[in-house]
Amino acid sequence: MAKAKVLLVEDDPVQASATREILTKVGYDVLLAEDGINAIKAVKTERPDIILLDLILPGMDGYEVCRWLKIEETTKGIPVIMLTVKKELSDKISGLHIGADDYLPKPYNELELNARIYALLRTKALQDELRMKNKQLEELLHKVNYMAITDALTGLFNRRRFHDVLTSEFERAKRYATPFSLVMMDIDHFKRVNDVFGHSVGDSVLKEVATIMKNSIREIDTASRYGGEEFIAILPNTARENARVVAERIRLMIGQHAFGGIDRNITVSIGISGMPDAKAESEEKLIRCADFALYRAKQLGRDRTVTAEATELEYVEE
Ligand code: GH3
Ligand code: MG
Ligand code: MG
Ligand code: MG
Repeated sequence: MAKAKVLLVEDDPVQASATREILTKVGYDVLLAEDGINAIKAVKTERPDIILLDLILPGMDGYEVCRWLKIEETTKGIPVIMLTVKKELSDKISGLHIGADDYLPKPYNELELNARIYALLRTKALQDELRMKNKQLEELLHKVNYMAITDALTGLFNRRRFHDVLTSEFERAKRYATPFSLVMMDIDHFKRVNDVFGHSVGDSVLKEVATIMKNSIREIDTASRYGGEEFIAILPNTARENARVVAERIRLMIGQHAFGGIDRNITVSIGISGMPDAKAESEEKLIRCADFALYRAKQLGRDRTVTAEATELEYVEE
């Protein structure tokens, strides 16, 4: 283990060398500063583990140095023991008030000095450990949150996230009458891909399709894996006609893409629904409408994009 680094701030050379001797004997690495400015410089460059700070110093005094150290984000965690010849209680209180961690009147007893340094270093070590664990926990939480909304295979959002985004988009569309579209996409004859080339090739096709979809939409759009080989994107501020342009771009790109591990092209069918749509009173209906459009695309021979409105849905469902 490395030696703990103690910064001793003391303007009296006799006091300084006496204290340095005590500390060196115990095994600390001792740095010395004779005034406030040099103390702050040393803290910045040397990063001591603890600071013994004399109250009365030429120029910037111990109070000012302490206040500065405790304001600064990078130095406020370093424990400070205030040293002073004054014994009044008011000094003790104001020393602690400005953030000193402990207070020691001079002349101090060797054992007491060592005991206090030891106690503060131990506290600091525990605090550092706690801070590190907190950071690890935060990272873990972040990861858990990420996993809760992400599809593990493709890295797109998952179905749960899709529904959450849809809810807020739907609310917004109703309140402000802004348009948005749903683009639902299903790979054509995907079962054959699995049958002919195997499931793991099928998985990598899914990943590539997801990447193409993701790269063809804007930052504000949300692409999710809706089911096995079904994807859905929410395009805010996008009317159905414009969503169709996006969908066709995705469809053509997938159709022209050379997928790894297979010797044939992949095509997709796409269904679009969107707001405003007077008959789409619910999110669920808007999804059903995109699903209906997709079904029509399959019926019409696949490898195409079909747009639908909720009135057509009612006609079919009646
Ligand atoms: P269609 O053109 O009518 O959509 O035909 P299809 O074969 O794509 O449709 P179907 O729904 O019959 O088959 C979908 C297939 O997708 C069946 C299933 O094994 C496969 N599948 C679903 N999820 C995954 C997955 O995560 N990985 C792989 N490799 N295959 C999957
Ligand atoms: Mg002094
Ligand atoms: Mg399907
Ligand atoms: Mg399919």
